[in-house]
Parts: sequence; structure tokens; C-alpha cells
Amino acid sequence: TTFNLDTLTAAFADIEIITDTAQIAKLSQDYHTFSPVLVPKLAGKVGDIVVRPANEAEVIKVAATCAKHRIPVTVRGAGTGNYGQCVPLHGGVILDMTKMNEVLWLKPAVVRVEAGVKLAALDKKAREIGWEIRMAPSTYRTATLGGFIAGGSGGIGSIQYGLLGDRGNIIGLRVVTLEEEPQIIELRGDDVQKVNHAWGINGIITQVELPLAPAYPWAEVIVTFDDFMEAAKFGYALGNADGMMKKLITVFASPIPEYFQALQQYISPGKQAVFLIIAEPSLEFLPGLVQQYGGEITYQKLAQDTGKGINLAEFTWNHTTLHARTVDTSITYLQSLFPPDSQLQLVEQMYHHFGDEVIMHLEFFRVRGAVIACGLQLVRYTTEARLNEIIQYHEAQGIAIANPHTYIIEDGGRKVIDPEQLKFKEMVDPYGLMNPGKSKVLEFKVSQ
Ligand code: FAD
Repeated sequence: TTFNLDTLTAAFADIEIITDTAQIAKLSQDYHTFSPVLVPKLAGKVGDIVVRPANEAEVIKVAATCAKHRIPVTVRGAGTGNYGQCVPLHGGVILDMTKMNEVLWLKPAVVRVEAGVKLAALDKKAREIGWEIRMAPSTYRTATLGGFIAGGSGGIGSIQYGLLGDRGNIIGLRVVTLEEEPQIIELRGDDVQKVNHAWGINGIITQVELPLAPAYPWAEVIVTFDDFMEAAKFGYALGNADGMMKKLITVFASPIPEYFQALQQYISPGKQAVFLIIAEPSLEFLPGLVQQYGGEITYQKLAQDTGKGINLAEFTWNHTTLHARTVDTSITYLQSLFPPDSQLQLVEQMYHHFGDEVIMHLEFFRVRGAVIACGLQLVRYTTEARLNEIIQYHEAQGIAIANPHTYIIEDGGRKVIDPEQLKFKEMVDPYGLMNPGKSKVLEFKVSQ
């Protein structure tokens, strides 16, 4: 790009900026490093300047300036995304949203916040009035709500409430457009889908209105099993026990638990483990179900101790991959959706087929009422060709893969960009400046 950095710093005179190259490089990164395929492809990609707006007026100023000079904009929350969503392919401005973290209003069942609020901070606020957020990624301590909506999909809580994109899980979004005269657009109801999971290419989200859930006292539990399929079937049965409130059902095949150094005293070598977050009133019903599948409860922490000691959530979802990689950096992962099946036959088939090369890690969640097994299997990586072969084998069996080894939106989970999102894109980002290069159908229009 041909823009002059001095012009830019002058235009942003009243706004916090970062021009230190080491800092910029850091803020041009995310957690795509879990993928050995993405690392070389995104190496050396950095922004030219980081801008940290404190309010919507400053966001508008940045948007107007970038539109006028045709400067690419990569919006950034906490930068915990896994697909290089926050890595700028064509330099330009990194728009760091973390200073916009205010809770605008909060009432029973609904909250309205600025997009840069951290999920854990939001949850804490909501719990003060007896409510909590419906779901969060395992990165909730640092991840922002805007980043979760634009880049994430679900997590802890999804066994009860489904995915973030399910109708009703986001009430309203306010976005600023990338035009010389930026507009502010409020999307409500089903229209929020125009921006949900759009990887920061469909406008800058400045505010979010979110439905809340009644807050429960949550207990954390570890159950171990000798047999993997018994562990998986226990998870599925608990998922379907509609009278029992839970927000996490994670199943690990051996040897995954051995990667969790802090938990060794609770899980004997060779055992399969199920990690649960379950409401205290449901705890009494757990031993019976555990017994039915031949498991053993080896650890339990009650709600009064939440925040103390071990935090089980931070071993689940993609934190599992993080822990495994601290022990063995050759490990990477898959993201797969098994079709609904009470016998979990495909899970069993894949478990046996790949042996130690693809190790089962399941997260159960709810999709349109049905309990579904999502696999975040650990893969012992050898080559990209072999990884693709593994992916293709899953797909051939009818298991949907949301490929985490690509930074191209269409090659990931969605396969095509929703036409409604594309139409909205033309309106809010007419020059194609937002996170350019991440989509096949959108050309990089910035004048070189
Ligand atoms: P960022 O990474 O900063 O941004 C993500 C995307 O959103 C980018 O494309 C960015 O441009 C865009 N964006 C950010 N803010 C805005 C905004 N205000 N307006 C417009 N676009 C914006 N994800 C899950 O869904 N579930 C999980 O359980 C989960 N577990 C994870 C575990 C680990 C260890 C790691 C490393 C990642 C995990 N993730 C998970 C991925 C990621 O952490 C979450 O999706 C998280 O919510 C992203 O938030 P963030 O603030 O870090 O977003």
C-alpha cells in the first residue's frame, strides 16, 4: 500500500496508537500456531500500525481515515483465534478493540456491552444480578465478546444452549462501516447473522446485545473409565439427561489426560477421562449414571471453590490442544462434527481406524435439540498431505470437518460465504478493506 504512515499518525492524533515494531508484530499474531500448515503461510505478515480506540467516535474516525486512504483494517479482540483471522495479509491498521469494554446496561436476562469486553468480566458482572452468559470459549478469561462473535462458534455452555450462531443467542449487533462517511448500523433478530462469524470482514462491531442464562452454582467433576466407548456413551447419555443442568461434557481418549500435568493425581495412566461442569442440584444424580457405564468419579470441586485451584474448563475445547502441544509440539488437531447417532458408531470406527495417530477428544453440544459429538481430535502430524488424507477420510464417512488448517473462510467450516453476508459486505465495506485476502470470492481491491 502507498499510504503514508505520518499522515496516518497525524490523523489519529487523539487516539492511542502503537508504532513500536516489536509490539506491532506481536499484535499481528494469533493462535494459528496450532497449525503446522498455517505457520509458514502466515509468517512475516504484520500490520503497519496498531490503533486502540476508546469509544465509538474514535472507531468512526479510524474507519473514515482508512476508507479515504484505502488502508486495510484488521479488527482485533484478544487475538486468540486459531485460523489466522487476526493476521493482516496486506499490512495496514490493526484495530485493537480491547479498550472498548464497558457494560452499557444490564437487566435480568439481557445485557448490552461494548464489543471489546472480556467474556469472563462480562460473566462476573451478570452473575452479580443472578444471571450468566450462555456460552464461552475456553479462552473466556482473555477473549472478547466481539472476537467470539466474529471468529468463534461455541464452547462451554453449548451442551445446553447450542452454538453462538443458533437463532436467539445474539440479540443485537451494532456495526460501523468502512466508508469515507461511516454509518452506524444496528442489526437485530435474524439480521445479526450478517455479521456473526464473518471474521471481521463485515463491519466493525462496536456493541453487542446478548441474552443471558439464569446463573447456577457449578461443580467441576472428573470421571475416569477403562473403556473409551463407555466413556463416550456416558457423555452422550448425560448430554441427553434433560433434567440435569450442565455446561461441559468433554471426553478424552488415553493418552490425552497424560498431557495434563496438573491433573495426574486424579487420572491413572491408561485411563480415559470425562470432564464435566454440572449444576450442583444435578450432582446427586451423577453417581448412578457413572456406575451404569463403569466409570469412577475421581475429582470433584464445588461451586464455592470456583476460581480456586484447578480450573477444568481450561483443559477442554481447544485448551486440550494447547496442553498437548506444550508437551509435544508435533501435535495438531482436527475439528469435526459427527452426525447424530445414539450408538456413536462413527466415533468408534474412527477411534479404531486411526489408533494413536488421531486421538479422540470429544465435546458434546446441542444442535437443533440433538446431542452431537464434536471432535477436536489430536493429530500426530507428519506431513500436510497425510493431514489432508485424514481429513478426506473423515469426510468420506460423513463426518463434517471444519478445517482449522486454512485461513480462507470458504475452506474452513462454512464452505461458502452466506450470500446475505456477501450482500452486506458490499454495503459496509465497499472498498474491500476489511481483513482482505481471507476469502476466495472477495478480491483484494486496495490500490497497490
Ligand atoms: P480475535 O482472535 O481477536 O478475533 C477473531 C476474529 O474476530 C478476527 O477475524 C477479528 O478480525 C474479528 N473481530 C474481533 N473483534 C471484532 C469486532 N469488534 N468487530 C468485528 N470483527 C471483530 N473458539 C470457540 O469458539 N470455542 C472454544 O472453545 C475455543 N477454545 C479455544 C481455546 C484455545 C486455547 C484457543 C487458542 C482458541 C480457542 N478458540 C475457541 C478460538 C478463540 O479463542 C475464540 O473464538 C475467541 O472467542 C476469540 O476471541 P478474541 O477476542 O480472541 O478474537
